[in-house]
Amino acid sequence: MRQCLTSDLGGYYTSNAPSEKDQFGAKGDFVTSPEISQIFGELIGVWVVAEWIAQGRKSEGVYLMEMGPGRGTLMDDMLRTTRNFPALAKALEAVYLVEASPRLRETQHKLLCGDNETKENSIGFESTSKHSPDLKIVWTEDIRFVPREGNKTPFIIAHEFFDALPIHVFQSVPPSPQDSDGTIQTPTGPILGTRRKMPKENQWRELVVGPKPPHRLDDGEAEFELSMSRAGTPHSMYLPETSGRYQALKATDGATIEISPESQAYARDFAVRLGGSNRDTPPSPTSPDATVGGKAVPSAPKEDPVVKDEPSGAALLMDYGPANTIPANSLRGIKQHQMVSPFLSAGSTDISADVDFLGLAESAINASPGVEVHGPVDQARFLTAMGIEERAAQLVKRAVDRERAGSTGQDKKELTEIVKRIETGWKRLVDRSPQGMGKLYQVMAILPYKPTAHGEQRRRPVGKKKKDFDTDGTRTHNLCQTSYRKATPYH
Ligand code: SAH
Repeated sequence: MRQCLTSDLGGYYTSNAPSEKDQFGAKGDFVTSPEISQIFGELIGVWVVAEWIAQGRKSEGVYLMEMGPGRGTLMDDMLRTTRNFPALAKALEAVYLVEASPRLRETQHKLLCGDNETKENSIGFESTSKHSPDLKIVWTEDIRFVPREGNKTPFIIAHEFFDALPIHVFQSVPPSPQDSDGTIQTPTGPILGTRRKMPKENQWRELVVGPKPPHRLDDGEAEFELSMSRAGTPHSMYLPETSGRYQALKATDGATIEISPESQAYARDFAVRLGGSNRDTPPSPTSPDATVGGKAVPSAPKEDPVVKDEPSGAALLMDYGPANTIPANSLRGIKQHQMVSPFLSAGSTDISADVDFLGLAESAINASPGVEVHGPVDQARFLTAMGIEERAAQLVKRAVDRERAGSTGQDKKELTEIVKRIETGWKRLVDRSPQGMGKLYQVMAILPYKPTAHGEQRRRPVGKKKKDFDTDGTRTHNLCQTSYRKATPYH
């Protein structure tokens, strides 16, 4: 997925070939919510404003960060909204855009900065907002370049970003003779094992992408296919053991799970920015993290812990995926608004997979003692609670009033068109039928966690109803709840 989507050599998002068209819109491959209606970005802006107010209106050190901003429409609509709150606009010190595509970076620049100059900086590029010379817009390819400072308040938005991150797929199979010696399959060949006995319980096998053999390759068909690895792989021995949610399925023959370690790393990063690092796990730069096939695997470089006296900020994750189950068989290709094989025309087909919301929630909670997670709730519920219908009515009224005042020079037909666009747009976003986006898309928030004093009511984030989460003041770990919290109390 990584190669097909973001490789420098002809990735779907990163290709510079002049023949490559815009991915978005009716002529492209897909349409996203911010492109359907301006109200979407406005309501996300209102959500950020509401969180900023609820957290005491910080007067400095606030930044916005968007992951994979596409054409920049969502951020543009958000900034137009937040500008109506001058104290927040003043507190905003930068907007960080994490974007892998140079071409989309240019599109975003045009929309957000107009003709303002772009210059290179130490983490990528920067310019200034078309609305204010005081607001820096910064582009970087990797979130790890954006400084993590304990005195900052980040508001992080990820819309249709996580579904583009690579997944690993595993299937549980009964023990077989291939497992008997513990051989591990790696991309460069097998590592022979030393085990003597056949394991008694089911094993996880990775489903890997490989080229289709020429005799099975028909014209116009996908050149790659998914097949089950003959032996364990380093990933199959490690990733499915990282959560009780996966372990619980190991004994079920044929159980299939998709895990996206890269997505989990982003969720951990967001959590640490909001709530600070765990205090009880100091980095150990010298010891290896794991052994595979009897060999020590060196750990990734350790990151500096973030010390945060007071958790602050918020992250809003909006994507396509099941609300409370582990995704399975969800890898798909999208071309010209149709579902196609993900293995067709690598690099010119969009590929995506369902997002494992509870997996992200678990990663965030485990990464920081200062965060809690709300939701996911479906997009219809979230946008309705945020006032989508009221905002649409306001836009319609404004268009009608303007036409009546004769200030627009529009004729009746144009007005009818505008009203129709507003109405069909917002309704599509909250439509719960299979054609709409209201039920398929989920919204989940990571927020600062603060223990409540005895008898004190817990604060609820805007856009979430009371029954969306309990109010007992602990971070309880219950996968069946819509609200996901861990059993250990905050200390
Ligand atoms: N959020 C936008 C665009 C969604 S498409 C919208 O809703 O309209 C996915 C976006 O993520 C694109 O901007 C793409 O270039 C970017 N992207 C995909 N993989 C990425 C990665 N690994 N790192 C940074 N950006 C990535």
